[in-house]
Amino acid sequence: MLKLEDTYLHKGKRRALVAELRAKGIQSEKVLDAINTLPRHFFFDTALISHAYEDKAFPIGEGQTISQPYTVAFQTELLDVKSGEKVLEIGTGSGYQGSILHLLGAEVYTIEYQKKLFEGTQRFLKRLGIEMNLFYGDGTGGLPQHAPYDKIIVTAGAPIVPEALIAQLKVGGILVIPVGDRRRQTMVKITKKSAKNIEREEFEGFAFVPLLGKDGWKH
Ligand code: SAH
Repeated sequence: MLKLEDTYLHKGKRRALVAELRAKGIQSEKVLDAINTLPRHFFFDTALISHAYEDKAFPIGEGQTISQPYTVAFQTELLDVKSGEKVLEIGTGSGYQGSILHLLGAEVYTIEYQKKLFEGTQRFLKRLGIEMNLFYGDGTGGLPQHAPYDKIIVTAGAPIVPEALIAQLKVGGILVIPVGDRRRQTMVKITKKSAKNIEREEFEGFAFVPLLGKDGWKH
């Protein structure tokens, strides 16, 4: 099928995107390599494919978006994923961010709140042959049955940092979550130094679709 063809044109555009991300300050060669390897246009609706290598977020249906490449790169860099680590993602969406984590060697657990997106992405990843553990439901409570995790990434904007996510991190683990109002968020990186010692760093200037559910926004 045409959509899953990765042509020289796509590869060229992807290299240019990687150069753009580097110029914008992304430094991790592992992260840049993963973005250079994974065809982002596979995750797009056919009608939007020509935009797949712009550094922008795009609609993926159900009022949701595939995150901007810079944002994916920034969050992934903060997460500092090492091969073999167990990583939980809240907000599967198109499956692109999860696939980047998979390419970095992570054992990925990902949860999606919108049934249609969950089902569509599950079918699609199977077709691509990318293996991760997909769940349908509210991720604001984490995924306790598979906890603890080395890393947790939230890809929708949260009003608060849900306690459950910190609880489900291993000691030494990292949580990356955008927190703010419904339109703008600050990227928060939480490092669990010990059960009681939590380090918090913040990076300004992000815009995600809202995190819904129990500890999220009320629709
Ligand atoms: N990581 C995705 C980005 C998707 S946008 C990608 O690479 O494409 C954010 C996603 O979070 C949306 O699909 C939205 O439906 C989902 N979401 C919102 N609230 C959620 C919740 N409480 N639990 C799980 N997923 C949620």
